[in-house]
Amino acid sequence: MTLAQLEEWYVLGGKCSACVHKGFIDRWELARRVGRHAVIAALIPRLRCTACGNKGNNTWMTGRIKR
Ligand SMILES: [Zn+2]
Repeated sequence: MTLAQLEEWYVLGGKCSACVHKGFIDRWELARRVGRHAVIAALIPRLRCTACGNKGNNTWMTGRIKR
């Protein structure tokens, strides 16, 4: 799945495998940086935990924007 294919009402976040910190990212800003057709799963190596700095084995999570 690419960033463009992710429904507009979903937000994207990363979850750290080391400290279980969760953080949501600005998916529109990400799309501007890597392109709307970047495959989301392929961006996992670029995830870095903002709490402990861990870069390995992090995972994506998605959530719905509350209306
Ligand atoms: Zn962490």
